Amino acid sequence: MICWICNKNKADSGEHKFKSSLLKKMYGKQFKEEILFGTRESHLRIQGVNNKKVKFPKVICKNCNNTITSQHDKSFDVFINYVNDNYNTIFQNQSINFENIYSENWFEEKKNLYKYIAKHAGCKIVTGNFEYNVNNLSEFIFDDINTSSFQIEFQLKEGFKFLDICLKQQNTEGLRFMSNGQTVYYKNKEGKIVFFAGITSYNWLSITWVYTQNGYKTNFVKFSDNPKQKVAILPFHELPEIGKKDWFDILDNQRMESLDDQINYYHTFLKLTNEPKDL
Ligand SMILES: [Zn+2]
Repeated sequence: MICWICNKNKADSGEHKFKSSLLKKMYGKQFKEEILFGTRESHLRIQGVNNKKVKFPKVICKNCNNTITSQHDKSFDVFINYVNDNYNTIFQNQSINFENIYSENWFEEKKNLYKYIAKHAGCKIVTGNFEYNVNNLSEFIFDDINTSSFQIEFQLKEGFKFLDICLKQQNTEGLRFMSNGQTVYYKNKEGKIVFFAGITSYNWLSITWVYTQNGYKTNFVKFSDNPKQKVAILPFHELPEIGKKDWFDILDNQRMESLDDQINYYHTFLKLTNEPKDL
């Protein structure tokens, strides 16, 4: 298989499904404690940041993973650390100001952040073996050509911050939660896939992405030179079970029950009211 980013080298590198630096930061390189890794099918305990379970299959090359995208990875780390440390500011403003995160180099760093999420999205789509052209993602990452085909939304979950506070009151390290939703795609009446979507979460932040080459209009945001970006707030009252049940059960229930539920979720998010038309 050829790397989907450079379209040149043999795909010999497994991108982490969750950022390895953040896995190490949260759990330690060898995972001080075994961590519980759950999928819809099963839960298992795994150790170590290089466990195959936390990596995509080899769909990109070492050069793209280690050299071409290394700055993108770093910008993502800075972003996640900022969101973890500045919950209240983001919650009050309901937006993120990239100048506050990255200072004078914010434009390049914001673009790197988008490119990291594009790498994650492309790896998910390619891993699913779908017949869908991801060239807009590779051109964005590799050739620095901006695209309107890739759009994202940031979401802040008030209930997850509340869980963190509760856990810290119990003298633990607080919330340490990462999750990737299933890759969702939508077909038109002719059976042709018209968009892909996915969600990746780190504690109280979720990033939902959409990739569509079919000109779909969504309320998500493509990469631009705007230093501010709206953040959707998922308020506490929309997670009513928090505070009543065991916290692990709550996190567990956060994952979607079925693919239909996930498709409905994206329908609501994307404000799709009509059957999609092939454009
Ligand atoms: Zn490559």
